Amino acid sequence: MTTKYIFFTGGVVSSVGKGVTAAAMGRLLKERGFSVAVQKLDPYINVDPGTMSPYQHGEVYVLDDGAETDLDLGHYERFIDVRLNKVCNVTTGQVYAEVISKERRGDYLGGTIQVIPHITNEIKRRIGLVGKTTGAEIVLVEVGGTVGDIESLPFLEAIRQLRSDLGRENTFYVHVTWLPWIGATEELKTKPTQHSVRELRSIGISPDMIVARSDHPVDESLREKIALFCDVERRAVVPMVTTSVLYEVPLLLEEAGVAELVLHRLGLEARTRPDWSDWKKLVERVRQPKPKVRIALVGKYVELHDAYMSVREALKHAALALGVEPEIHWVHSAELEKGKGWDQVVQADGILVPGGFGSRGIEGKIRAIHHARTQKVPYLGLCLGMQLMVVEFGRYVFGSDEVNSTEFDRSTPYPVIDLMPEQHGITDMGGTMRLGLYPCRLQPDTRARACYGVDVVEERHRHRFEFNNAFRDIFTQRGMVLSGLSPDGRLVEITEIADHPFMVGTQFHPEFLSRPNRPHPLFLGFMRAAAERAGVLETEKETVTNA
Ligand code: GLN
Repeated sequence: MTTKYIFFTGGVVSSVGKGVTAAAMGRLLKERGFSVAVQKLDPYINVDPGTMSPYQHGEVYVLDDGAETDLDLGHYERFIDVRLNKVCNVTTGQVYAEVISKERRGDYLGGTIQVIPHITNEIKRRIGLVGKTTGAEIVLVEVGGTVGDIESLPFLEAIRQLRSDLGRENTFYVHVTWLPWIGATEELKTKPTQHSVRELRSIGISPDMIVARSDHPVDESLREKIALFCDVERRAVVPMVTTSVLYEVPLLLEEAGVAELVLHRLGLEARTRPDWSDWKKLVERVRQPKPKVRIALVGKYVELHDAYMSVREALKHAALALGVEPEIHWVHSAELEKGKGWDQVVQADGILVPGGFGSRGIEGKIRAIHHARTQKVPYLGLCLGMQLMVVEFGRYVFGSDEVNSTEFDRSTPYPVIDLMPEQHGITDMGGTMRLGLYPCRLQPDTRARACYGVDVVEERHRHRFEFNNAFRDIFTQRGMVLSGLSPDGRLVEITEIADHPFMVGTQFHPEFLSRPNRPHPLFLGFMRAAAERAGVLETEKETVTNA
């Protein structure tokens, strides 16, 4: 069948959940037997978010093929349970880089290169690649930013052209807006929505559906008003009231009947009846009160929880499967160095150190790890969290505070974590790390092997530094277990501490492959150990198995 496209634009304000709406819509269509993929068009000029601070952008989400992408790709993969690829995140930087390199090659000899048609053609080419590379029948495309932003204009122009290129029956436009609540008069206002639809129209796009986000219930008269003023059918005005349970969004969209409307307009019929029983159970479980397990997340960007989006979701998935509630204590590692926040580490049932770059807060993290190892508190270290677990162990083995990663001390006499040989000599910062999916062989009789239940796994990476093999022998003699290695045995991928209830570090990022109904085995193992320490685990409570 011809690829069908659903475009999502945002109006009024950003951060109203456009990404989650697109992800949830994708799930609705998948439930009806269609293969779907989602693409995010980001208007910024960076080639990818890999070079941006998490404070600017939140987490950098990594795909199988090593693409460093926007965190919305994480929503798409988790909600739809698909594996996306690098064409699924396009930035202005990528588009211009491509067009300018073609110009230099002489591909457009004699021509003047312009936003229309050269930039818009390149955007359309990239939109077209999604269906071609993923085989998706329905491609959902989210335009980042808000209508009215100068920088998203070329993207909007490109999706506008696609309606005439591909036809009405193959394109559908969803505009996600916000209804502000005026406290004084206790009412929701539709005016900003009307204005943003007018703005969208002035660029030539008439929305087929308006998803009206709000913090308060939207009554029928308001719906009617939006329909009238914005010239969409009333049933195509979909109120979406904020829910505390993120994973409820697909169920809310389902109830609103949006899938039938979209399919009808795209000339499609559902192939299968959606089966929401697992999702409903999931949402019910989220709602039920559950015993709490305290997890100290010791990181550097903790003020901005979005910086650890996938880690937080992975913790929730695992906890949900065990019938417990993760109470995440966000501990600032640099503050720990000043002695602040230590009580949160000490009271924790589990300690997690996520990925990170740069030296700020490193010693604070090492102190938390020392506590986890010596007090036998369950620990999970992700990437940097694994590297620092190795540093902490090295300090114990050699009785020296000089043990370090060469990322933080180039001249340490004990470089237990060091650049990989192939990373020496690389000077560019963008896209040059070990990125994407790599296989890992699990060693028999280890905790990691027991968690996964298989011999070989594939996990997503994003780092420059590695365990230094010169220290393998001494570390293993002293009680560190190298429980996951690259299949050629050259790279250490997982470390654990033998005499400990659960102390595991991974060079990769398991959080990217955790799914709501399929928690990641290592997160599950960590959460189980933490829940046991908290004394709240009833073993038969485990409701989800790891397929
Ligand atoms: N900074 C470390 C490295 O580059 C860890 C990276 C990470 O945690 N993602 O190897």
